[in-house]
Amino acid sequence: MQFNPVIQRLKTYEPGKPIESVVREFGIAPEQIVKLASNENPHGCSPKVAEAVAARAGQMYRYPDDTMGALKQKLAARFGINTRNLIIGAGSDQVIELASRALLEPGSAILQSEITFAMYRIYAAQCGAEVICAPGVAHDLEAMLSLYRKHRPRIVYICAPNNPTGDCLDRVDIENFIEKIDADTLVVVDGAYQEYAAYKDSAKALDPSALIGRFDNVLYLGTFSKAYGLGGMRVGYGIASEEIIGALYKMRPPFNVTTLSLVAAETALEDEAFVQMSIADCFEQMARYVAFAEERGFQTIESYTNFITLLTGQRDASELADALLRRGVIVRDLKGYGLNAVRVTVGTAEQNDRFFRECREILDNGAA
Ligand SMILES: *Cc1c(COP(=O)(O)O)cnc(C)c1O
Repeated sequence: MQFNPVIQRLKTYEPGKPIESVVREFGIAPEQIVKLASNENPHGCSPKVAEAVAARAGQMYRYPDDTMGALKQKLAARFGINTRNLIIGAGSDQVIELASRALLEPGSAILQSEITFAMYRIYAAQCGAEVICAPGVAHDLEAMLSLYRKHRPRIVYICAPNNPTGDCLDRVDIENFIEKIDADTLVVVDGAYQEYAAYKDSAKALDPSALIGRFDNVLYLGTFSKAYGLGGMRVGYGIASEEIIGALYKMRPPFNVTTLSLVAAETALEDEAFVQMSIADCFEQMARYVAFAEERGFQTIESYTNFITLLTGQRDASELADALLRRGVIVRDLKGYGLNAVRVTVGTAEQNDRFFRECREILDNGAA
């Protein structure tokens, strides 16, 4: 079959292992499995969301409101922006895809930090574009700037806080960097974990309204998948100038977010107490991981997200992740990113207890 030539160079994205496949592969009962691999909110979502979704379930036969007016209005009010500066996607992933397709073609390039969210490069590759990477575990803005001047990419990605490392640039440094980027280059600022960063350190908090007010070439991304606990509903958003939003709209498939997903997101926005509770608990529990790492001689990267990266030192991270998996604890092995580390989503107290118990046993038995 004659496929698009880019198909040959593409690899299929490997998401965090779903619970179902661990049940099949290792014969472990689903209730014995703890998944700390996809940065989901371990507290689920606001109970109000389930109620609202159930109440609207009878509307499933209708196509969704394609203007997404209700959700847009809530988001616009939240951020102090105009609804014309918003696009809603099936996850912010889809907004990344739309931006890639709107700007990239063979011969063009994106610029990103080497160890960052995998979808930037995957969508770029699908468009036949090159991926330029600035080396380093954290975003090296100096290096990015010189690579920018050399390669003239059409999109520059800043992930703040960064996945899969958990660290976060300061707002001022991001702004000073964007200042030096030409107005014809799109700067995507991915704020998937901004709720966590803003809670922990106000110097890391981004204000999308101020960003797009100052820079016409910024696309800010947010999601309901992390702090709001709606990963399964697939809702994210992009905030940008009308010009950028207009271009993304031309690439958007109609009805790209389902009726029930829209209801879930609208309702989730009304329960800020739930989100703040989740975040407070996350950082309380994260302190236990930092203590555990110290106890075991692992290094950690200071995290502004709902996950923590443990640099496993002498231990092979893949073997540790594998041994944990056999015991029903799913974490993310970062060897594929060139880091001998595992990324662990901070779970509930009980889930974390289980992680520590299994991990201690593995390490004490010398296995892995
Ligand atoms: C999870 C995540 C996203 C998007 O998630 P969606 O579920 O598609 O909204 C985007 N960027 C980063 C860095 C993420 O970790």
